[in-house]
Amino acid sequence: MQPCADRISTFCPAVPGEPRRSRETPAQTPGEIDEEACRYDEEGKEPYWEEKILCRQCMQVITSPAERIEVKGSHRHTFSNPLGLLFQIGCFKRVKGCVDASPPEAEWSWFQGYVWQVVLCSACATHMGWRYTGPQECFYGLILDRLMQAS
Ligand SMILES: [Zn+2]
Repeated sequence: MQPCADRISTFCPAVPGEPRRSRETPAQTPGEIDEEACRYDEEGKEPYWEEKILCRQCMQVITSPAERIEVKGSHRHTFSNPLGLLFQIGCFKRVKGCVDASPPEAEWSWFQGYVWQVVLCSACATHMGWRYTGPQECFYGLILDRLMQAS
């Protein structure tokens, strides 16, 4: 896995008109994560993605097949949440067009050592998946049946 500094990041823009959230380290993981190093918020800088993966609901570009990564040996993971709902997620290095919708949470993390945050499509607010932040890197676990490949 590459280090954070090497552009493992998010392209999530802030919601227009909404102040950027503070990036304070959550109390339950003091000093464990360097979230700033995993962020890539520079305006106007977007990756060039030849193939795109879209939000199935509103067709906004979310990521690309080029961003697929393996985490703990696999791109795809199937998990159930505490309510028993089953999710099949794919791991992606970078996304854009997503907004954080929850504070970092360490409990119930599907990837040990990573805190998670819910991420929504910034255009239609569909729950796209989760952002995982570890001591070394960030990645996204996106719900595969909420995505579609651009044709
Ligand atoms: Zn959407």
